[in-house]
Amino acid sequence: MPEKVIPIRPASGFRQSGTAPLREPYAGGKFVDTLGRPLRDLRISVTDRCNFRCVYCMPRDVFDENYEFLPQASLLSFEEIARVAKVFVSLGVEKIRLTGGEPLVRRDLERLVGMLSPLGVDLTLTTNGSLLAKKARALKLAGLKRITVSLDSLEDATFKAMNDADFPVAKVLEGIDAAAEAGLSPLKVNMVVKRGVNDDQVVDMARHFRGTGHIVRFIEFMDVGSTNGWRMDDVIPSAEIVRRISAEFPLAQADPDYRGEVAERWKYADGKGEIGVISSVTQAFCSDCNRLRLSTEGSMYTCLFGQQGHDLRTLLRSGASDESLRDEIVAVWRARGDRYSELRTAETARVSKVEMSYIGG
Ligand code: SF4
Repeated sequence: MPEKVIPIRPASGFRQSGTAPLREPYAGGKFVDTLGRPLRDLRISVTDRCNFRCVYCMPRDVFDENYEFLPQASLLSFEEIARVAKVFVSLGVEKIRLTGGEPLVRRDLERLVGMLSPLGVDLTLTTNGSLLAKKARALKLAGLKRITVSLDSLEDATFKAMNDADFPVAKVLEGIDAAAEAGLSPLKVNMVVKRGVNDDQVVDMARHFRGTGHIVRFIEFMDVGSTNGWRMDDVIPSAEIVRRISAEFPLAQADPDYRGEVAERWKYADGKGEIGVISSVTQAFCSDCNRLRLSTEGSMYTCLFGQQGHDLRTLLRSGASDESLRDEIVAVWRARGDRYSELRTAETARVSKVEMSYIGG
């Protein structure tokens, strides 16, 4: 029997109404956006800072030494994040990804992990790996389930050209080993592929992690934010990436693990594992997008390419009840109609959009 869609009152500022039990319309996430998509995946940015300056995310000419990052007081505290996360989980969220900037530069992040772990969701984190060797074990002990590490090349010169921080590959590989040893699994490795910069190394990256159990996901270069100088010419379509790898290591397409999975899965025909491709530019996947992003200041973004956030922090800091938070979240999600990647043009790519380092990937 199809789910009955129950219209709700639009959120009109918050309502001081105490902590009434969860009302039926919201129980278990029985609400969808205007395109019929449920809310299942929450990405929480815990900092806008990073120790890298990846050219496709935080180009140094913009995020230079004079760039003013957010003051500590404007960031959601761990207690606020944990409270909001609990409300999201009561609304049907099944997966929480901690992001940034670089989440591991936020002090004592394992304390936040420990506060979120009792929620019983698929708790994961995306990191550039620079601090992972030191932190992996503590994160695992705190309750982190798995991890994704960004690594755009195995060659130091190219890697440094991409992260613009003079940081060696070896240290990231050390972090990956430490995470695997700590039991963070499955471990995924994200490689953003840019034509003429690192696209000649996709087969090397596949070869390096083949048979290790780690899953490399090759990501098409995207027009996130408004500072990375994106051009369609710099994009290597995922189909081309699959073709290149398959020429050396035959691949067969695999079914998604779940509805809304971002990466398209390809298994090695010889059973030595799999890769993924994330094709926001050439094969949009908005129709199943069940992701909401919470900025480090507590604003909700319903799309990675969003222009406007929905402030939750003011509610949080002015004594609103959990019910009021739920009303606000549900109202924002129900009104959502985002499908940017399906509508992308050269013109939309030039429109000012929120920076990925502010809301996480
Ligand atoms: S472009 Fe926006 S709506 Fe489409 S998949 Fe990405 S985040 Fe979701």
